[in-house]
Amino acid sequence: MVIAIDGPSASGKSTVARLVAEALGFLHVDTGAMYRAVAWKMLGDGVDSADAAAVVRRLDTLRMDLDFSAENDGPRTLRLRLDGADPGGDLRSPRVERAVSAFAAIPEVRTWCVARQRELASRGDLVVEGRDIGTVVFPDTPYKFFLDARPEVRARRRAAERESAGELAAVAHVARDMTERDRLDRSRTVAPLRVAEDACRLDTSNLDARGVADLVLRHVRSRHAATAS
Ligand code: C5P
Repeated sequence: MVIAIDGPSASGKSTVARLVAEALGFLHVDTGAMYRAVAWKMLGDGVDSADAAAVVRRLDTLRMDLDFSAENDGPRTLRLRLDGADPGGDLRSPRVERAVSAFAAIPEVRTWCVARQRELASRGDLVVEGRDIGTVVFPDTPYKFFLDARPEVRARRRAAERESAGELAAVAHVARDMTERDRLDRSRTVAPLRVAEDACRLDTSNLDARGVADLVLRHVRSRHAATAS
């Protein structure tokens, strides 16, 4: 069983996906981390996203190991290593964040990541969060959600996350970077961010993560009961 949770940055996907995975005992997969990891590796190796041929060459020899482990009492969540190295907190750095969408727009990068995402379905039931999970990666799942929130709410959330990670974050700067990343994600040719026709849309602007997770769980349970009967 796969629960797909898509949406733009800071729409609340990650916290909600984690809560839903925890409640159901499913594995949690953050596909954004895969694209961030690819961007992190390429930046570290001096490979420019404008040089797609060089990116593809580097991908050919890149090894990504995927495992699941739980932190504290949370769900089992995806851990990744690239060529044996753990990118850790670097995945969330502003440098990676600004570069990731350009790498994610390269079709071969998407094919490479999507193949690995689909393989994870053999490891157990999944809650998968991303941009194209309901439209491209697992289009046949009946459990699709698209989370969104007003842009100013999203910018405030992201700035607060940054600040709690010890960074100075002006909401205006965060908003500008976020808008640009969303623009790239929505306008790319392959697998752009969009709502799947059969997705349940949730506006999270006025809800906390627990409230959104409860809505998702209720929807999943009633859908599951309807298909089982
Ligand atoms: O979700 P997160 O903000 O970590 O995603 C980082 C970036 O990875 C996105 O802005 C997008 O460019 C890319 N991404 C994607 N497809 C996904 C998940 C993430 O293109 N399924």
